[in-house]
Amino acid sequence: MDVREEGALSNVTIRKKAEENVIVIPVKGVFIAIGLQSDSFPVVHLVDTNNKGEIVINPDCSTSFPGIFAAGDVTNAFGKRIVIACGEGAKAVLAARQHILNMKKKKEVTA
Ligand SMILES: Cc1cc2nc3c(=O)[nH]c(=O)nc-3n(C[C@H](O)[C@H](O)[C@H](O)COP(=O)(O)OP(=O)(O)OC[C@H]3O[C@@H](n4cnc5c(N)ncnc54)[C@H](O)[C@@H]3O)c2cc1C
Repeated sequence: MDVREEGALSNVTIRKKAEENVIVIPVKGVFIAIGLQSDSFPVVHLVDTNNKGEIVINPDCSTSFPGIFAAGDVTNAFGKRIVIACGEGAKAVLAARQHILNMKKKKEVTA
């Protein structure tokens, strides 16, 4: 992408990496997004992550470390959207609650 300024921003020139031809789009403003990077570093030594640094989760939001659950953009769940992050968060809470109940049951059996 090439941003041309002649007194004021007037257009951007875009060339797709795989193509030769360029497109000039007249614009009055530009918002540059630099992409997503997952902030999984606090738990990266505990749970499995993929090559994008996303925490790998199971369908119930559990991770490779029993008792650690993850939800939202930091995971490998499909779709980086608010509604998905909220739904995944609800799922993670339910699964964490179930995990605690299961642990309590196990303790009662062994006591
Ligand atoms: C520019 C932009 C526009 C978007 N527009 C839309 C839209 O229109 N509709 C839509 O559905 N989605 C949109 N999204 C995506 C949406 O914002 C995310 O999918 C959603 O916010 C994910 O929620 P989350 O709770 O997983 O992560 P986040 O909302 O990113 O929350 C993570 C929080 O954890 C905090 N955090 C990170 N590391 C640490 C740490 N080590 N210790 C403590 N706290 C930490 C961060 O500061 C942040 O507050 C947009 C995203 C961007 C970047």
